[in-house]
This record gives sequence, structure tokens and C-alpha cells, in this order.
Amino acid sequence: MPVDTDDLESAMRYALLTTRATVICPFHPEVMIRVGDDAAETHAYCRARSIIKSDGTRWEREDLMEEIVRQLTDAADGVCPRCAQLVASHN
Ligand SMILES: [Zn+2]
Repeated sequence: MPVDTDDLESAMRYALLTTRATVICPFHPEVMIRVGDDAAETHAYCRARSIIKSDGTRWEREDLMEEIVRQLTDAADGVCPRCAQLVASHN
């Protein structure tokens, strides 16, 4: 998966996915699902902290905190809502 380390959103998405704090729905590549694993989320934050931008600096703590909260809030909780909807419409 390509990651743009100079883009906060891209860097955080990469950190979340590689630590499996979030996963992408196999049927809906645009849907991020929050696994709900506290340890993985802490891990994701640490990984994002270690990402070095092209100018040699790292992301600020506050920026990372804000972005991780934003992405986890935006992510679907545990199940993909589109898949859930499909299952519901077939019943
Ligand atoms: Zn889905």
C-alpha cells in the first residue's frame, strides 16, 4: 500500500492499517472498519509517531492525536455498514 508520509491522513491511515487497528472491508475498499483493539490503536499511534517526513522531521503529537481520533471516529464500528445493509436486504 503506498503511503505519502508528508500527508497526515495518508500516514495515519497507513499506521492504523498496518497495526490492524483498522481494516478495509474486502468488498468495499472505501470502507474502513475499526477493530476496537486498544493495544492496536496505541501501536498505530506509536507507528505514526515514528514516521519520518521527507524533510526529516516527524509529525507533531497533537496533530497525530487529532488525526487518529478523527479516523477512528469516521471508521465503521466492527462491521462494514454496507455489508450489513446487503445482508439485511436479502432477508
Ligand atoms: Zn463491506
